[in-house]
Amino acid sequence: MHPADPCAKNYPFPRVRLGSASNRWQMVGVIALSEYDLGGLQERFAAWGYSPAHAARVLRAYYSAGTDPRRRRWPLPRGLAERLGASLTSVAARQVADDGTTKLLLRLGDGRAVESVLMPAYRGDRAAGCISSQVGCAMGCDFCATAKMGFERNLSVGEIVEQFLALRSEAHSRDRKLQTVVFMGMGEPMLNLDNVVKAVERIAANDLGGLGWRQVTVSTVGIVPGIEALAATGLGVNLAVSLHAPDDETRARLLPAGKRFKVGTILDAAQAYQSAFGRPVSIQYCLLREVNDSHAQAQELAKLLSGRKMHVNLLRYNPTGPSLRGETYAAASDKAADLFIAELRAHGIVAHFRRPRGPDIDAACGQLRQKTYKASSIEIRKTDFNT
Ligand code: SF4
Repeated sequence: MHPADPCAKNYPFPRVRLGSASNRWQMVGVIALSEYDLGGLQERFAAWGYSPAHAARVLRAYYSAGTDPRRRRWPLPRGLAERLGASLTSVAARQVADDGTTKLLLRLGDGRAVESVLMPAYRGDRAAGCISSQVGCAMGCDFCATAKMGFERNLSVGEIVEQFLALRSEAHSRDRKLQTVVFMGMGEPMLNLDNVVKAVERIAANDLGGLGWRQVTVSTVGIVPGIEALAATGLGVNLAVSLHAPDDETRARLLPAGKRFKVGTILDAAQAYQSAFGRPVSIQYCLLREVNDSHAQAQELAKLLSGRKMHVNLLRYNPTGPSLRGETYAAASDKAADLFIAELRAHGIVAHFRRPRGPDIDAACGQLRQKTYKASSIEIRKTDFNT
């Protein structure tokens, strides 16, 4: 059950908010269903002395709660319901922008927090969700608000799943269907790939989250072994690569990971991924004034992508104050952005501007968490990283 579920009061399981480390629920014998796949839940039920046969129905009902109220009611053996239904997350803050973009700050059991974002789609009845994979991030991308927090920890499978459920409930409350999910929130998904993959398997599976593999996008700053490992899972989810510069020098300035993984190597790995699954890879490129928005850089990017089935998403920069290295970045001018996309298109590259989302709220990843933590004086730990 998720606290954001508008129908939560009718849910058949008792509602338990977990307030400390994840092993506490094991001690008190109450579990969060978001942490379980079918095999794991069957084992748990058997260990408790209940029939494993209940597990499939319980999990299906857990994932469908909020979509069809009739499916939330079913008989369970005496005592079993009381052991189910714990939540690993709770909504600590919610910001709704004029355009309907909704940013949730989800408090975790250990007092930390992550952000998830619901973005209304062009179709009035659809929405897209953006999910975090880690608390903070060690990648240190210079223009990113999350990078300033440092890395704190990986999210568990259940904490990722509950973001999906929270966003889906949020979408339902606005008469929209959560149509797609992107792992572009806080963190580098490839550095928590085991948990991301397990969560995707539950989110996408027909009998659980029901989203579908092709509706999920995993992004990376260019961690080549991660791209290869994701390909090896055979899931066939969409891949997005945050490139942000066509040359290694500019890229290494913006993204420290660029010192380790060169542009050519990243694009080759992305190309192999694309060939394996047949879907275009999306290249994310945040246009920064007089940093990566020149005509020459557009030409270089076009040359790099020529002949590859990759399309470019050009992003508008949301200012987040001085960067990690003390730089102050600005969004590219409209004229520079128009020239940049025109140059790409002139070379036959498919390119789009990504619609700015929630400009009137703390739209950049990590901003709401930063603000809320400041407001509540919770200490934010920072972790040094070397790439
Ligand atoms: S842009 Fe993504 S990978 Fe880079 S620091 Fe921010 S959260 Fe991490």
